[in-house]
Amino acid sequence: MEARVISGTEIRDTIKKDLTERTARLARKPALAIIQIGDNPESDVYVKQKMRFGEEIGCEVTHILLAEGETEEGIIEEIRELNADERISGIIVQLPLPEKIDADRALAAIDPAKDVDGLTPASLSRLLAGDLSGFIPATTKAVLKILEHAGQDAAGKRVTVVGRSNLVGKPTALALLALDATVTVCHSKTEDLAEAAKQADILIVAAGKKHLIGREHVRDGQIVIDVGITAETGEDGKRKLYGDVDFDAVKDIVAAITPVPGGVGPLTVASLFENVVRAQEFAENK
Ligand code: NAP
Repeated sequence: MEARVISGTEIRDTIKKDLTERTARLARKPALAIIQIGDNPESDVYVKQKMRFGEEIGCEVTHILLAEGETEEGIIEEIRELNADERISGIIVQLPLPEKIDADRALAAIDPAKDVDGLTPASLSRLLAGDLSGFIPATTKAVLKILEHAGQDAAGKRVTVVGRSNLVGKPTALALLALDATVTVCHSKTEDLAEAAKQADILIVAAGKKHLIGREHVRDGQIVIDVGITAETGEDGKRKLYGDVDFDAVKDIVAAITPVPGGVGPLTVASLFENVVRAQEFAENK
């Protein structure tokens, strides 16, 4: 039987409606500041998506493009000014940063009350403690939303997360642990990925390797959430996106799967703005 395809775009549209209504009820428009350092074509695409979504739900989005050669101190100074600016509800630093910048140090400068990407030590330590009430990184939130939409309670389930980055793999594993799943985390040194992937009831893949997961990694009844995005330019000059899961190879085996594009991606942007609107709601109800 063909897998149920979970559309992130459809869930995104529901969230969009909710956020538009919440934004309209606020005294002031929620405002997101995006700091980008240097030109990076991939980052440019993501920043544009965020600006478009933000504007559609009635938020203000300011894109601050700093020069490639900007110093760590310069970035931190910019963040401090935004921390102090009452008009700004949330601040994100568009990753990746140039190598010479210590991303953790830059992120740590963000006021936890404006940390809408959930990547400051303050937000991550809440997650580590099993507290899901703070700002959760957007991609992790997107994964949780997909599970909720699919009617999947993670409690007691075997979940395998492929990828252990601070941005995606680790926060996602921690959130699922907080939801009482039995979590296995795989990475590039995992010896038998197929075995670890196959034992999962819920398989979450965030490795950034096109079609890493094929028929030998899945079994029937699984829910597969594909976070990976690999962009390639085809012979026709068009940009095409691929997931970490070979969708066509596994779709007749697993129970449900998210597509790429149209799965986790659209929900990640919506989840970020859920955090932005929440930050402004908090600020107005302090
Ligand atoms: P990352 O920092 O490069 O981390 C990749 C992780 O995958 C690492 O932990 C790495 O292991 C592991 N890995 C690499 N090759 C592997 C293999 N052959 N077998 C098992 N594990 C392997 O990437 P990221 O920032 O976490 O992002 C992961 C993917 O998600 C990327 O494609 C990114 O574009 C995508 N992404 C999508 C969204 C969205 O909205 N859909 C949002 C964020 C990211 P080691 O730790 O051992 O190196």
